This record gives sequence, structure tokens and C-alpha cells, in this order.
Amino acid sequence: MKNAFAIVGCGATAIAFLQRHLDRVAAGSAPAGPVYLFEKRQEFARGAAYEADLPSNILNTKTGFISPYPHLPGHFHAWLEAHPAAWRAAFPDFQPLAEGFAPRALFGVYLQDQLRKLVLRGASLGCQIVLMNAEVCAIDLIDGMETVRTRCGVSLSTQKVFLFCGPLGKKPDPARHDERVLPTPYPVSRLLQTIAAHERVAVVGARLSAIDTVIALIEGGHRGPIRMHSRSGYFPVVRGTQERVELKYLTREGVRALVAQNGPLQISDLVGLFRKELAAHDPGSTSAVIPLPAPPSDIQGFIENEISVSQAPRIWQAILYATNGFVEHLWQALDDAAQARFMSEYFSFFMAYRVSIPTQNARKILGYLRSGQLEFVAGGFAAPESTERGELLLRGAGWAHEYDRLIYATGFARDAHVLDSTLLASLIKNGVASSHPMGGICVDPDTYRIQGRVGAARQIYAVGELTVGQFFFTSALEINGRHAFRCADAMQWGEHAQRLERLEEHV
Ligand SMILES: Cc1cc2nc3c(=O)[nH]c(=O)nc-3n(C[C@H](O)[C@H](O)[C@H](O)COP(=O)(O)OP(=O)(O)OC[C@H]3O[C@@H](n4cnc5c(N)ncnc54)[C@H](O)[C@@H]3O)c2cc1C
Repeated sequence: MKNAFAIVGCGATAIAFLQRHLDRVAAGSAPAGPVYLFEKRQEFARGAAYEADLPSNILNTKTGFISPYPHLPGHFHAWLEAHPAAWRAAFPDFQPLAEGFAPRALFGVYLQDQLRKLVLRGASLGCQIVLMNAEVCAIDLIDGMETVRTRCGVSLSTQKVFLFCGPLGKKPDPARHDERVLPTPYPVSRLLQTIAAHERVAVVGARLSAIDTVIALIEGGHRGPIRMHSRSGYFPVVRGTQERVELKYLTREGVRALVAQNGPLQISDLVGLFRKELAAHDPGSTSAVIPLPAPPSDIQGFIENEISVSQAPRIWQAILYATNGFVEHLWQALDDAAQARFMSEYFSFFMAYRVSIPTQNARKILGYLRSGQLEFVAGGFAAPESTERGELLLRGAGWAHEYDRLIYATGFARDAHVLDSTLLASLIKNGVASSHPMGGICVDPDTYRIQGRVGAARQIYAVGELTVGQFFFTSALEINGRHAFRCADAMQWGEHAQRLERLEEHV
């Protein structure tokens, strides 16, 4: 069908893209046509991050700031105030304060409402949005058309395909399958049905997912001991009360000028720009993050201090968040060796400082640590072994702990070869996509077209976590929304452009 396209994966990125696409159709800069929206989960729009789950899973961005649409900051907050009937019954205790942090499941309700509105708007613009509840497992080029195939046997010809697949899990290894080991904690509401209240639990990871897991277990009535195992030993910092800042030096132009002068940058060049930016906003706070902080040796003391300092603005955090608008340019300015070094030496540190947690979660974790129910263990360890008594044994340098359950709450694998996706595996195998050395798959940074041996000949595009190696930080809504908008803007609609040209000739 003319100008038909398919989207694989309906989460926040798809919603942002559709919003922009329909704006462009309304403005006459993109053609109308059917959109086939494929989603393998039962529920559309929520994706992995905002699925129905316990209200203790909260957003890490304030209610007043979070929005999938770059041109509409505060859209979620405005929606909450305008549509209380859509959420009040399910979230009776929630207060929609701009400074607060909403449950992620509530953000999912908002995204579902956005999708409903997009479907109606699409129909009024001649863009029928067809929801297809199916997993896409291959895309073949047949007679010049991108033909999408689903696991359930549907085959659909379209002009273009957009991969908005979000964070994907790791392929399961049947040889290592063990019912006592959970590959993901989500949805955390199910943990309480799987894990008995007295069991000894190891939570692998110390970032947001691990924190969600511990809070869900303990608030759900878990009484047994829990240990959080952090290989790097870092724990997330706490979000301060700062507003957003306008950057002066650590900017896209600043980086571009430095590259023009010296060629590809080193990590120290970016640290230099950061330092200059910090000094410009708050000369007194320079020592707060520089020199590089080591992992905390006293976790309780660290969290206590974090809670205390987060009662005030933390300018260095505002600077880090302000790079959301162009973070990929900072990444792409580094030479290959600097990128590799960053990933191996500084990534854990960066994530602990870049992805902060709200004070309310920090207070909960501190309370559990103080009560002795939760312990924090820093350092590497080998794969879990089974003891003769049927327990799981986790062994590190100079220590060993026995558990009844182990939960991996470590985020998502970057290596495209290990991701659990039949579609991705088939695209890589056929040379349509290629894995990026820094994670995910290769895409053109301007058009988002996927690049493989034969990828350039195809009309397949990707935004989101699949592009992590190209764009570096793709696990924030704001960043994926921005890329989705850019991707919609970059789309060339051959026939549409020709039609406009002919119209102009006629005029
Ligand atoms: C647990 C968690 C918490 C997060 N919290 C925050 C937060 O607080 N703030 C923030 O800014 N960011 C957060 N993020 C980052 C989040 O990933 C982004 O904000 C954003 O939601 C990503 O949207 P997406 O549409 O790219 O991916 P998703 O929302 O995951 O949507 C992708 C969809 O694609 C579907 N899919 C994949 N492959 C196929 C296939 N072959 N066929 C059909 N369907 C397919 C999946 O089922 C999924 O529903 C969080 C992420 C996670 C995982």
C-alpha cells in the first residue's frame, strides 16, 4: 500500500515518533498512509519501563519535567492535572506535584492515553494506525518492499520499517537454566509470588532496577536477608533540588570547536569542559565530583551524606542532565580508543553519577541497611554454583555467600549478538544490520538508517537502545524522544517529494 510503513515495538519512542510524523503529515511535509504498529507485549505503549507494576517503581525524572515530546516539556504533568479520572482510581495516594516522582506504571497509563489520541488523530489525517499484537521475527526485501514477517505467520509489505525495540534481554542459556535464578526482576509484583518471605536473596546490581527490586521485596513483606552485589562497588547518587541550567562551555559548539582545533578528543578534554562549565555556574562546588570519586567504602555513610547534600541544588547534576540534548556529540567526538577506555574504566562511575535516585528511595535503602536486613557487597564474583545441600553459592575474592534465590537486576546487555531477539539475529545474519563495537547496531547518525553489508540498500531505521553504541546514552526518555523526532524529520518520502515538486511546477 502506498506510503505504508511499519513500526516494530510500541513504547515511548514509537509514541514520540508518531506524534512528530502526524505533525509533519498535518503540515504537508510527509505523506499520509497506513502505519502498522507491531508490539509483542499484550499491552501497547507502556514498553518495558512503564508496564503495570507496583507503585514503588518510580520514575527517575521529576513529574514536572518528564515528557516523550521534546517540544512539550511538562506534558505529562499537564495531562495528570487535566485528566484525574484517567488515573485517580488506580493511584489514589499519588499527588501530581511537579517536584515529585510518579510511579512508572502511571506514566504507562499516560502513554496508553497518548496512543489512543494518536490513533484518532491519525485517522483524521488519513493515516490509519493499525495495532498488530505480534512479534516481528524477520524483515525481507521482496519486490522492492520491506516485508515484515511475524512469528504468528503474518506477512506485510511496507515502504519503510522503524525498529523501536527498546532494551532487550539476554538470550537465555538452556544449559544454565536454574529456576532459582531470575534473569530479570520485572514485573517486581511477581517477585512476591515466586520468592518465599523467609528466603535468602542475592540481588545482582546496584542501579535503579536493583533498588526497585529490594524495595518491592521488603515493602511486600519479605523477611529474609537480602544482599545487593555490586561488581563495581558504586551506588547511585541522590537527585538534588536543582532546576535545569543553560550550558555555556560544555556545548555541541564547544566540542565542535575543540575537535576542529585538535582532532578527536580524549576523556580529559571532556572533563576539562565539564570543569569549566561547573566553575562558570558554581565555583564553590568544583570539588564535589572532581577528582573522580572512588566507590564508597562505607555505604551507609555514603547514602546518609547523599541524602543530606541532595536537599540543596547540585549544579554538577544539572550540567550532566543538560547534556541530554547533545550527549551523542560528546561521545562521537572521542576517538575509538577513548570510547573503549571510557566503557571499560569509567562507565560504572558515570552511570552511578548520571542516573541518580530520588531521596525517597535513598531513605528506604538506608533504612533497610540500618535494620540489617539488607547488606551491600562490593566486588566481582563467579557464576553461581550449586552446593550439595541445594543452595546457590556466590563466591568472590575472600568471601562466599549462600542463597535460596538470585535475581539479576543489572540492566541490559549492549552486545547485539547476545540479545534475545529473533529479528535482530536474522538482520545481523543476513548482513542487513551489523553490530556496533560499543553496543547495539550501527546506524547512520543523521538518518538513523541501519548499516550492514547490505543495510544501506534497505529502508530500515532504528532509534532507542538498539543504537546505544552510536549514540552512547539511550536509556532516558527525553533522549529517545529527541532521536525519534529527528528520525521522523530525516525521513525522505520519494513519491511525496516528487508530488510536491510537480505541484510547484504546475503553480
Ligand atoms: C525498568 C526501566 C525503568 C526505566 N525508567 C526510566 C525513567 O524513570 N526515566 C527515563 O527517562 N527512562 C527510563 N527508562 C529508560 C526507557 O528505556 C526509556 O525511557 C524509554 O521508555 C524507552 O522507550 P522505547 O520505546 O525505546 O522502548 P520500550 O518502552 O521498551 O518499548 C519497546 C517495545 O518494543 C517491543 N518489541 C521489541 N522487539 C519486538 C519485536 N521483534 N516485535 C514486536 N515488538 C517488539 C517490546 O515488547 C517493547 O514493548 C527505564 C528503562 C527501564 C527498562
